[in-house]
Amino acid sequence: MESALPPERPSTDGSGDPGQAGGADDTIERIDLVLRAVEQALVRLDEGTYGQCHRCASPIDDERLTIDPTIQECASCALGGEISPVEPSLTE
Ligand SMILES: [Zn+2]
Repeated sequence: MESALPPERPSTDGSGDPGQAGGADDTIERIDLVLRAVEQALVRLDEGTYGQCHRCASPIDDERLTIDPTIQECASCALGGEISPVEPSLTE
């Protein structure tokens, strides 16, 4: 048996920091996601639904919106949707 030891040696290519391959692509992808989230937030602002949970239609806490202005879910939904979603067509 030659492979008794796990291959735990990081590749030494001189630039240090192993596990950072494709960093630029990741960054661009993340910026793209943020950009899209901001665009969607602007659309909601236009429609008058900004600050409203897109799952249960409850108002989102100002605190949450301050932390992330593009957030789309209230605290309950973000935590796993403990509040059952309300269908707009089912309201009496
Ligand atoms: Zn919600």
